[in-house]
Amino acid sequence: MLRYAVIGGGIVGAALADRLAGEGASVTLLEQDRPGRATSRWSLAWLNAAAKTPEAYHRLNADGMRAWARLAAELDGHAWYRPVGNLEVADAGRRDRLEATVTRARAWGYAARLVDRDEAAGIEPALRLPDAPARDLSFAWFPEEGYLLTEPLVERLVARARRRGARVHTGDAGRVTGLQRAGEAAWGGGTERAGEAGQVTGAKGPGDRIIGVRTAAGDLVPADVVVCCAGRWTAGVAAMAGIRVPIVDPEPPGSTAPGFVVRVGPVEVPPTRVLHTPGVHLRPHGPHTVHLEAGDVTADLHTPEPVLRDLADTLLERARRVVPSLREARVQEYRVCVRPMPADGMPVAGAVGAVPGLYVVVTHSGVTLAAHLAELVTRELLEDVRLPELAPYRLERFTEDSGRAAS
Ligand SMILES: Cc1cc2nc3c(=O)[nH]c(=O)nc-3n(C[C@H](O)[C@H](O)[C@H](O)COP(=O)(O)OP(=O)(O)OC[C@H]3O[C@@H](n4cnc5c(N)ncnc54)[C@H](O)[C@@H]3O)c2cc1C
Repeated sequence: MLRYAVIGGGIVGAALADRLAGEGASVTLLEQDRPGRATSRWSLAWLNAAAKTPEAYHRLNADGMRAWARLAAELDGHAWYRPVGNLEVADAGRRDRLEATVTRARAWGYAARLVDRDEAAGIEPALRLPDAPARDLSFAWFPEEGYLLTEPLVERLVARARRRGARVHTGDAGRVTGLQRAGEAAWGGGTERAGEAGQVTGAKGPGDRIIGVRTAAGDLVPADVVVCCAGRWTAGVAAMAGIRVPIVDPEPPGSTAPGFVVRVGPVEVPPTRVLHTPGVHLRPHGPHTVHLEAGDVTADLHTPEPVLRDLADTLLERARRVVPSLREARVQEYRVCVRPMPADGMPVAGAVGAVPGLYVVVTHSGVTLAAHLAELVTRELLEDVRLPELAPYRLERFTEDSGRAAS
């Protein structure tokens, strides 16, 4: 029986480890920290597909939403699955785009409709609508969207994977520091030079299979197939195999990979829906807390602490204007977190041709996609097939136009 090592216990790796173990595969999940504590923990975690293009990517996301509904029915969905719908309010500058999104989504068979001000107010009683003339605002309702509470979800995925026989290594025992191929001493540890996307460089001859991963605890964990689900750290893990995975570098000032999120509370009457308003995006996060983001309130990895604090207050102030029951709320937590963003914005999922035994999965919108990707990737791994749904997302696409991909 083949042995699978899944690197990374975020929502993507946890969903995959659970799925593989559920099919009877031999799985080791390696997580350098505790599962679910990185990007997945801080995500808006909005389940959505309406605005995503092209159509194949839209359908992948819509299938992702359905995959969570199936999982919720068998894995304590009451604790983490919130298909509460998404209400969007657009001002004059954005109404054309919102209306075009609704038209296109409906043409693709997706549940979406424009609603009037009264219906919007009824859909979300906690929302105070902006005082603007009706002609300047547009309201759209996406009833099948929603959000996930990723912490209880990842906890349950990892616990079930264990019950299904998966081994779970965390901390130093789960921190992968190198990959090892047949016939070699330890491979990796940061000494490899990554070359063109999807191509191996350095002294390693192509064709030598991976036989395991090395950890910070000094162990060699045997594996015939290594699946890298390391989120924002994917480029570093892939470089251990001499492979370049082009993802947006979060380090440069102004990088688009970091996102700023704030959690506030207590709230007397929490909103029940995912809400996108002109100044702030929000959703409930537990019974007394609300998660906030805004496209124009940005920070990067170098933003000084006092500025972050001011940005958090700005978001809370905006949120109070649209959800008055936040009047007593205070900022509870804020964080700059990093989107794992492949260079062209689309997922990367597939076996890496140049390194037998290596498979990579990294994506933005990973909360929407993880359960469905876990189903597809499990089939590719266990049935040794290449599914058409994943054809647009192979790493090799960057090799064909690596100059653009790397920019
Ligand atoms: C601000 C923000 C808002 C977002 N909003 C949405 C949204 O509304 N909807 C949506 O669908 N998506 C959204 N996303 C994207 C989504 O959150 C991510 O795509 C998803 O969480 C990625 O999950 P992951 O498991 O790949 O990564 P992570 O959750 O980061 O997990 C990767 C794990 O790999 C581990 N790891 C890394 N290197 C190693 C190593 N060497 N050895 C062992 N373990 C390792 C890490 O410790 C980590 O736990 C958002 C992201 C951000 C930042």
